[in-house]
Amino acid sequence: MKLNVFNTLTRKKEEFNPINGNEVRMYSCGPTVYNYAHIGNLRTYIFMDILRRVLKFDGYTIKGVMNITDVGHLLSDADDGEDKMAKAAKEQKKTPEEIAAYYSEVFFKDIKRLNIGLPEIIAKATDNIPEMIDYVVELQEKGFAYETSDGIYFDIAKFPRYGQLSRLNLEEQIAGARVEVNTEKHNPYDFAVWKKAEPEHIMQWQSPWGMGYPGWHIECSAMGRKYLGPHFDIHTGGVDHIPIHHENEIAQNEALTCSKSVNYWIHGEFMLVNNGKMSKSLGNTYTVDQLIERGYSPLDFRYFCLNAQYRKKLNFTFEGMDGAKVSFARLKKALARHKNGDADLKDKCADYRNQFVEAINDDLNIPLGLGILWNMVKEAPSKDVYELALEMDKVFGLDLHDCDVVEEVKEDIPADVMALVQERAEAKKAKNYALADELRAKVDALGYLIKDTKDGAEVQKK
Ligand code: AMP
Ligand code: ZN
Repeated sequence: MKLNVFNTLTRKKEEFNPINGNEVRMYSCGPTVYNYAHIGNLRTYIFMDILRRVLKFDGYTIKGVMNITDVGHLLSDADDGEDKMAKAAKEQKKTPEEIAAYYSEVFFKDIKRLNIGLPEIIAKATDNIPEMIDYVVELQEKGFAYETSDGIYFDIAKFPRYGQLSRLNLEEQIAGARVEVNTEKHNPYDFAVWKKAEPEHIMQWQSPWGMGYPGWHIECSAMGRKYLGPHFDIHTGGVDHIPIHHENEIAQNEALTCSKSVNYWIHGEFMLVNNGKMSKSLGNTYTVDQLIERGYSPLDFRYFCLNAQYRKKLNFTFEGMDGAKVSFARLKKALARHKNGDADLKDKCADYRNQFVEAINDDLNIPLGLGILWNMVKEAPSKDVYELALEMDKVFGLDLHDCDVVEEVKEDIPADVMALVQERAEAKKAKNYALADELRAKVDALGYLIKDTKDGAEVQKK
């Protein structure tokens, strides 16, 4: 069965056909490693992972690339403001390399804990500066870029298809645009492909235009071309990348080749928190570690994400996480019954498998896939069910083979109580018995009792 997937470029669900036989070449915009990845960022990488898993399930091999942005991503999308890496380095009194190394390591740890399969090639922007300079030189030679006193800019007037991905009506936009700060730009939508560096700028490289550093968008164009060639199958990212980052990548790519650079642009919708934007100032940008501190496992979060299709906004709440945790534990418990079950359900399972294949290939309808798994586990105990569930888990990535080591989840225990219980367990492990007693008293005050058993602490309402 062929995958049908929504292509942002055409705004249609399309049948997926790779350019080269069975091989899929795919580029995914990676993190800017100046801070911890939050659960919204991670949702986008779970979406990337699901797409890769479905392609593999369908029998394709994948050559995937993900960049690590460790230079050039400015605070403002309008090519001004400080470089995010440089700002973090200054604030934390570290070098940009130290900042990048630290946050990359945490990112890869989160990726692993969430069972996200890494793309085959991970490319750091700072390892690819010569390729970026060559790219800018080519753009300039072909007349698509011009020099100003502070950098090299892409001239969108030379690329009439500019705006195709985000369906911008450029004339209207330009008419209404704010007064341009940079008066040397030919057009407010022209964007920097290379910035000239002030002497005090921490990250800078020698270039034909003096010392400087690359624009964020040129990074992805240069690394995409280097590893996947000028025309490849899929490009992914979050929906926020559509109007600027990916629009600019298309302009840079297609200015040089005069033809299509990417066949399918696939974007993941945003995660919201309490139906609003996730932002540091609101204190609602949670990390995986913070979820663990509150008593959720990384796979509880993965399960939570899988319950929404990637093109739907997903609202994060702790009530929702509690629901996901309980439901995931129940699913594993229900599946464990089938491990040694002897009912012959081969025909039924063949039917379930067909339904599953149809669901995942219908624009990655994972929630429907999970629904099918739920129907299946309600059958009489059968090894057929167990085996098919493990096959489906190649797509879900929920470690369902561990279904019989499910921890006991008490459904009526609120998350804040569970977080205290978890903290107490850690305090006991660290032999900090005073703190453990203090935490037990807090749990008690909230109306819950902790009972220590040989398998760990059990909690119940008083
Ligand atoms: P960044 O590290 O800022 O470049 O972002 C990494 C990825 O996370 C990008 O693909 C963004 O589109 C995506 N992203 C940022 N915020 C959210 C959010 N709230 N929900 C889902 N994805 C997001
Ligand atoms: Zn990118």
